[in-house]
Amino acid sequence: MTTTGDQARPRQARQDLAADPGRLAIFGGQRAVADPKLGTTWPVITDDDRAAVLAALDGPLVSDSDGDTPVSELERRWAQRCGTGHCVATSNGTIALALCLAALGVGPGDEVIVPALSFIATGLAPVHQMAVPVFADIDPVYFTIDPAAIEAAITPRTAAIMPVHLHGQVADMAAIAKIASRHGLAVVEDAAQAQGARYRGREAGSLGDMAAFSLQVTKNLPTCGEGGLITTDDPRLAEYARMGRQFGEVIEPGKDRAYISYQLGWNAKFSAVQAAFTLSQLDRFDADASARHESVTAFLDRLSALPGVRVPAVRQDTVHAWHILRLRFDPAAAGLTGVSPAAMRDALRRLLRAEGVPMSRYQLMPLPDQQVFTERTGFGGGYPWAAAAPEPRPDCPVARAVLADSLTLQKRHLNPAARDTLAQYAAAFEKVWRHLDTVAMLARAKQ
Ligand SMILES: *Cc1c(COP(=O)(O)O)cnc(C)c1O
Repeated sequence: MTTTGDQARPRQARQDLAADPGRLAIFGGQRAVADPKLGTTWPVITDDDRAAVLAALDGPLVSDSDGDTPVSELERRWAQRCGTGHCVATSNGTIALALCLAALGVGPGDEVIVPALSFIATGLAPVHQMAVPVFADIDPVYFTIDPAAIEAAITPRTAAIMPVHLHGQVADMAAIAKIASRHGLAVVEDAAQAQGARYRGREAGSLGDMAAFSLQVTKNLPTCGEGGLITTDDPRLAEYARMGRQFGEVIEPGKDRAYISYQLGWNAKFSAVQAAFTLSQLDRFDADASARHESVTAFLDRLSALPGVRVPAVRQDTVHAWHILRLRFDPAAAGLTGVSPAAMRDALRRLLRAEGVPMSRYQLMPLPDQQVFTERTGFGGGYPWAAAAPEPRPDCPVARAVLADSLTLQKRHLNPAARDTLAQYAAAFEKVWRHLDTVAMLARAKQ
């Protein structure tokens, strides 16, 4: 079929539109990011990782084996890296958190103070121990739990504080340690997002009584599936966790399994094949982290020049693990009058995604708004909440404000080869910032 001149002309016009690099992609302009996925897959899986997994298939597959297994090697190397006496690998990070609380004797009637902004698992782990999570507000700059809010949340039933090193930023551990010792509380670090983060010269995972990491496939140190790591300096707590993951049994080196259970146990074992994968990832963990640090800081430096963008701050004397990048937006500072923060966020999300920048919301609501906590759908009979006297709790205005005016970049920046794509993401932000009138228009239309 031949095309007539009449049909060809609009097509030509469309192509001209698409070729205009200044026009926003949402209006048919050329995307700022040519290939949004280039160099951004996570995890990176190399031939070394594949070889390690295959080799593990020839070793002991029973995950309770004693002696030298990939699981025990990973535990040894991770404890050494964290500077803790012990590490216990588990089947995921959520059970690692619950096992820490169990080892510390947290149970029915107890309260555990957790931040109002985190992944759901932080709030669920106390419930799994029949304890009640009590939500404390966060710091507006670092997004970690606010020590003053912890103080305000303490009751005679408080047993533990569970700070989260959210997004890879270590919580204010000195202030938290002070509060904990004054009130005789245990501290469990939720370090699921913070492998490799440091605080005053010490590794995340060595800053409380116990710590839990996640090896889930999207985290900075991944396995090929699900996994977790517990670290602690206390041999008794480590022993409780080790028995707890194995039906309450003790596996004695060189002896047959006795099948005797001495305490409450779970099946929370980690598999040798997955440990082999993580060990292989661990070999290049530091090189990856330093490449990531370079490309992320270059990206954030460019964004910080844009009015109304607040890039994540790094707490003094800490190393940020850059697990998630959260950007806050300030309509007034961007010169957008009469635009609410949430409307600006939603307009930016649309415009940036059209340009090829996969900005997303991380956590749609503060933890206390999740239905399990509002409806208290626990173990039945209102438990575990029925075991603790209900009290009016303060709201979490800072967590709400942060969720209203911020967007996150997840996973795409983790790949150490993401540098060029991150530079294109920055160019997309700069392009959108040349069209703040459009941001305002879209935002006003929605609010
Ligand atoms: C991922 C995550 C967890 C849970 O880890 P899983 O291995 O997925 O069970 C807990 N807390 C935080 C903050 C997390 O990001």
